[in-house]
Amino acid sequence: MSDNQLPKEDPRHPGNWAAATRAVRAGQTRGLEQEQSEPIYASSSFTYRSAAEAAARFSGESPGNIYSRFTNPTVRTFEERLAALEGAEACVATASGMSAVLASTLGLLRAGDHIVASSGLFGATASLFANYLPRYGIEVTVVPLTDVQAWRDAVRPETRMLFLETPSNPLTEVADIAALADVAHEHDALLAVDNCFCTPALQRPLDLGADLIIHSATKYLDGQGRCVGGAVCGDAKTVGEQVFGFLRTAGPSMSPFNAWVFLKGLETLDLRMQAHCRSAGVLAEWLAAHPAVERVHYPGLGNHPQHELAARQQSAFGGIVSFEVLGGREAAWKVIDNTRLLSITANLGDAKSTITHPATTTHGRNTPEQRAAAGIKESLVRISVGLEAVVDIRADLEAALAPLKA
Ligand SMILES: *Cc1c(COP(=O)(O)O)cnc(C)c1O
Repeated sequence: MSDNQLPKEDPRHPGNWAAATRAVRAGQTRGLEQEQSEPIYASSSFTYRSAAEAAARFSGESPGNIYSRFTNPTVRTFEERLAALEGAEACVATASGMSAVLASTLGLLRAGDHIVASSGLFGATASLFANYLPRYGIEVTVVPLTDVQAWRDAVRPETRMLFLETPSNPLTEVADIAALADVAHEHDALLAVDNCFCTPALQRPLDLGADLIIHSATKYLDGQGRCVGGAVCGDAKTVGEQVFGFLRTAGPSMSPFNAWVFLKGLETLDLRMQAHCRSAGVLAEWLAAHPAVERVHYPGLGNHPQHELAARQQSAFGGIVSFEVLGGREAAWKVIDNTRLLSITANLGDAKSTITHPATTTHGRNTPEQRAAAGIKESLVRISVGLEAVVDIRADLEAALAPLKA
């Protein structure tokens, strides 16, 4: 892009753009057609003008595209735009959020290494850590997300990574990223933060000292429930070389079409996140006062245990609200079944509001003991607050909760 030729001190230089501008413009390189919207490069391989050019490309002497398992212009535009939003030197796009977790663990760790991870992780991440990584000699110790001393106590000489999600799913517990970055760095370990719930619109973990950011692009980055994808962000060596090296070899790559959908998602991310947060705040307050609701989990509520920390660490409180109803599983299922507007699905981060019963869906594969340890009760309902008018979402929940009072 010609703007890249501007001197760094020029306010129009891409490096000086505000987040909203980066979300719309970063990473775009116009082609010969002078297109306005980024094209989808549906090409598995790329050609060379000569055998010598091919040789230079393959040896890494000259930059450029080779093969879409690891170099595709549409995917690269998405990577550059997300890196610009997270304030990262490098970003590697992956086929799913889970392949982002896989690429950052298998790409950076080896047999004998140890991970300390928070309890209550996304179900598939918890299962990967408990059932698969140990087969390859990588051990994982699980600690409570919010207990910094427990993280410190769990670190061993062979600990190479601390891994967490904040806010957590579905209870929206908030970890102190800066404090845990210090714990990691005292032991030469990396702090990896799954930033799926906040996105860079609300929280920038690298600014707080984290080393790696994991994304499920499937959620808010897409924002309309269309595609599965993921990404890892971090520095040029850890992510740009090591995670990229694993991706290029093992191949859990993002398709150009999905990258294009996520690129378009990023252009409206900031506006969407503001709207999700605004409506979630209204609903959380309203639910907290409802007689059939025992407890509401939302970082924006004054009685949330990490409310102050969330206010400091995030620019807003997020779009996920969980609540416990009186009457256990039966009542929770009744509320879910009584809704008409909300979609019954475990996905989140969609323009359409969704409602789910974590104990029997997202966390259904955990043992009852694991769920109890994570505090996920049978009476818990999780909603991902969408972009419908908040009065309509509230009316749907009001009608769904009404029979419980009787
Ligand atoms: C969905 C999700 C993942 C996994 O992402 P996929 O795109 O489904 O593979 C990881 N972490 C969190 C917090 C998620 O919500």
